[in-house]
Amino acid sequence: MLNHSQSHSLFSEAKQVIPGGVNSPARAFGAVGGEPIVIERGEGAYLIDVDGNRYLDYVQSWGPMILGHAHPIVVEAIQTALLKGTSFGTPTEAENKLAKLIINLVPSIQKIRFVNSGTEATMSAIRLARGFTGRTKIIKFIGNYHGHVDSLLVAAGSSAATLGVPNSPGVTQGTIADTILLPYNNVDAIKKIFHDLGKEIAAVIVEPVAGNMGCVIGSSNFLYELRHLTQTNGAILIFDEVLSGFRAGKGGAGQRFSITPDITTLGKVIGGGLPVGAYGGKTEIMDALLPVGNVFQAGTLSGNPLAMAAGIATIQTLQELKAFASLERKMSTLAEGLEEEAKSLEIPVAIEQIGSMMTLFFLAEHKKDISEKYHVSSTTFNGSMLDRSTATSSTGGCFANKITNWETAARCNTKRYASFFWNMLERGFYFPCSQFEVFFMSTAITESEIQQTINAAKEVFKILQKQQ
Ligand SMILES: *Cc1c(COP(=O)(O)O)cnc(C)c1O
Repeated sequence: MLNHSQSHSLFSEAKQVIPGGVNSPARAFGAVGGEPIVIERGEGAYLIDVDGNRYLDYVQSWGPMILGHAHPIVVEAIQTALLKGTSFGTPTEAENKLAKLIINLVPSIQKIRFVNSGTEATMSAIRLARGFTGRTKIIKFIGNYHGHVDSLLVAAGSSAATLGVPNSPGVTQGTIADTILLPYNNVDAIKKIFHDLGKEIAAVIVEPVAGNMGCVIGSSNFLYELRHLTQTNGAILIFDEVLSGFRAGKGGAGQRFSITPDITTLGKVIGGGLPVGAYGGKTEIMDALLPVGNVFQAGTLSGNPLAMAAGIATIQTLQELKAFASLERKMSTLAEGLEEEAKSLEIPVAIEQIGSMMTLFFLAEHKKDISEKYHVSSTTFNGSMLDRSTATSSTGGCFANKITNWETAARCNTKRYASFFWNMLERGFYFPCSQFEVFFMSTAITESEIQQTINAAKEVFKILQKQQ
């Protein structure tokens, strides 16, 4: 057993001074039981904890660390900015630079505003959509998470789902009265609501690739229908790409699916590990913000020079490395390897992968049902632009693609996931501490480390098999 004694003592101390010992509940290991490990530092693909244990990191600070930890170019960019001062509350050139980099890569964004978190981005995007349209109602999807914005904190996946808090105390009925909840990937439901209430809807906010009920990919039908219905009804379509930005495609899911939302929210990767969020879209809409228009949104530290420097260095490095294709290829290797090993031991799994995002879902169904129910061909999945048919054909094409919404995700075997998590951790592999989160690939992880991961998973699957 790994020694976690320092982690244990620091976490005990943390619990005395910080609620639950954590500054964000997903970190508390609540969904897998036990105590979180306390990290001392990161080095490329690895995390090192306070007891000196090393872990290959597939969590990457929940998404941002796409270049791995303490990447020398990012560190240097932050150091250079740091020496010039940490905040001025004035325009700086770095803001223009990061804005232009993002605008060049994300086709739907003509103008962009920087904020300090993904939560701020979605909160501001909703306000802007309401201000711009003069309407009140917003549509959100069950299992999608948009940060801890009051009006969006309903059926919000991941930590909220894991902890069984669909509506947090403190979020009033009044606050969510204008939030309409619909099932994800369900075309009929959105058609019906637009038929009934179309002209009252200010905005639809959606994760085009969901990452907060595990990785669940929006079907092209669903996303095209959303674009069509919002357009014809004068509603704003918001793609929340805080997680999928620079992950699901090199310009995010919108770019990958060739769908142009009105507003896109970003975060995570664009801050290179510093606190940044952003929202951007059509000039006409973005110019409704003060001081051009009249919708208020502000921030003392917005566009912070250190954060901009980290973001610029991260995105430029991704571009210089032409990293996207290799990130995706490496993630496919891991996905295929894990699936093959699980299948050979008759452990029913579904793997959802796009770009550098992936979730291994442990299905709850009985073994005997697997071959019929889960060995479906990838053609049943309507994702023509997703390269899945090519990705799967090399290994015989047995990706299940059965996780399409929160209802199907929630049926997974979370106990088995917890066992997978702890057994992998013990072998030096850090995966998310919940079935309903995404595994991430970084440029720092090598092919041989992916093979080591698959080999370790094989051992772990054998243990899981005995636990059945
Ligand atoms: C993480 C996340 C957010 C919230 O971002 P924070 O920086 O944690 O506030 C919003 N939307 C999605 C899709 C996310 O994954």
